Amino acid sequence: MGMIGREGIRGHLILQLARIDAVPYNVDMPEKLVIIGSGPAAWTAAIYAARANLDPLLYEGALTEENRLRGTLPLGQLHLTTDVENFPGFPKGVMGPELMEQMREQAIRFGTRVITEDIVEVNLSHRPFEMTDSIGTSVTSHALVIATGASANYLGLASEEKFKNFGVSACAVCDGALPRFRNKPLVVVGGGDSAAEEANYLAKFASSIHLVHRRDALRASKVMSQRVLGNPKVQPVWNSVVEEVIGNDERGVTAVRTKNLHTGHVTTHDATGMFVAIGHTPNTAFLKGQLELDPKGFIVLKEPQRTVTSVEGVFAAGDVADPIYKQAITAAGMGCKAALDAERWLAEKNLE
Ligand code: FAD
Ligand code: NAP
Repeated sequence: MGMIGREGIRGHLILQLARIDAVPYNVDMPEKLVIIGSGPAAWTAAIYAARANLDPLLYEGALTEENRLRGTLPLGQLHLTTDVENFPGFPKGVMGPELMEQMREQAIRFGTRVITEDIVEVNLSHRPFEMTDSIGTSVTSHALVIATGASANYLGLASEEKFKNFGVSACAVCDGALPRFRNKPLVVVGGGDSAAEEANYLAKFASSIHLVHRRDALRASKVMSQRVLGNPKVQPVWNSVVEEVIGNDERGVTAVRTKNLHTGHVTTHDATGMFVAIGHTPNTAFLKGQLELDPKGFIVLKEPQRTVTSVEGVFAAGDVADPIYKQAITAAGMGCKAALDAERWLAEKNLE
C-alpha cells in the first residue's frame, strides 16, 4: 500500500497550496467559519461546513521542523501511523496517511480553502474573533472550530532531551527504518496502544525490543496487548521507569538505564534507540487565557452531547477536547457535531 513519505506529503501540500492561492481569502472581511486543525475532526468539520455553504477556511498547520518533532505536521496523528484497522468502512484496514489524505481531498472537493500554517495567536474576547498565523497574517471569523488534536509527551529527562533525533524519538513510523535502528536492540517506553503498536512496528527492524512499563499490566486494548506480548522480539520490563538515556556525541544513544519501582534494581539495556510512547498533551498552548481549559489543557465542553466551549461561537472537536476516547472515529464524529453546531449558531445570528 502506498504510504506517503515526508517528502511526498510536502510535495502534495505544495501542490494543494497552488490551488489555495487561486482561491484567496480577504483579510478585511470576516470569514463565516475558520477551522483550526488537520486530523479527522477538522476534515470532517470542513466536509460538513463546506456542504452547508459555510465556505470554511481551514488552517492545517505549518510544515516546520518544530512541528515534525512535536508530531503536529499537517494530517494529524494518523499521518504518523501505519495500519488503521478500526475505522469503519475499511474491512482490510487502511494506511493512516492514506486515510487522512482522502479526508483532506474530500474537504477540498466541496470547497474548503486550506492554509498550510499554524494559528499562533487568537483573540476570542470579541466577535468577529481574531487570529494570527505563523507568517503573521491576521484573519477574522464569526465562528471558530478548534480541532488541533494532541502531541506526544516525553519523559522530561535531561538525557532524553540531549539525544532527541540522535536515538530518542516519539514516532516509530517516522524514524524506525533509519539505519541506526536496523538489527539493533531498542527500548520502547509506555503501556498503551501507542507503545504496543510502536513495539510491534519496530520489531520489523530491530533485533530485540525492551518494552519498559511502569506497571505490571498494559493499558493497551486486548488485541494490541496480545499481539505485542506474543511477539518473540519483545521483552516486557514491568514495574520499571527509565532513569537515564546513555550515549555519546559520536554514536548517540547506546543504552537505556531502567529502575524497578518495587525492588529498586537498576538494569542497563543496550539500545541504539529509545521510542517514547507515553501519551499525548492537547495542543492548546495558543489558547491559554482565551478559553476554558481543564488542568491538563483539554478544552472544556460546556454542554453534554454538544461541542460548545466557554466562548459563544467557538466550538471544539477531537482529541483537543476529549481526554477519554481519543480515537479517529470519535474525533470525526465530534468534527461533524462541531460543524452542525457552528452552522446552527451562525443561522441564529443571521451570519450564515
Ligand atoms: P489530530 O490527529 O491530533 O490532528 C491535529 C492536527 O492539527 C495537528 O497534527 C496539526 O497538523 C494541526 N494543528 C495543531 N495545532 C495547530 C495550530 N495551532 N494551527 C493549525 N493547525 C494546528 N485512533 C484510532 O481510532 N485508530 C488507530 O489505529 C489509531 N492509531 C494511532 C496511532 C498512533 C501512533 C497515534 C499517535 C494515535 C493513533 N490513534 C488511533 C488516535 C488518533 O490518531 C487520534 O484520536 C486522532 O488522530 C485525533 O484526531 P484529531 O482530529 O483530534 O487531531
Ligand atoms: P495512553 O493510552 O494514555 O497510554 C499512555 C501510557 O504511557 C500508559 O501506559 C501510561 O502508564 C504510560 N505513561 C504515561 N506517562 C508516563 C510517564 N511519565 N512515564 C512512564 N510511563 C508513562 O496513550 P496512547 O497509548 O498514546 O494512546 C492514546 C489514544 O490513542 C488511546 O485512546 C488509544 O486507544 C489510541 N490509540 C489507538 C491505537 C489503535 O487502536 N490501534 C493505536 C495507538 C493509539 P499507565 O498505564 O500506568 O497510566
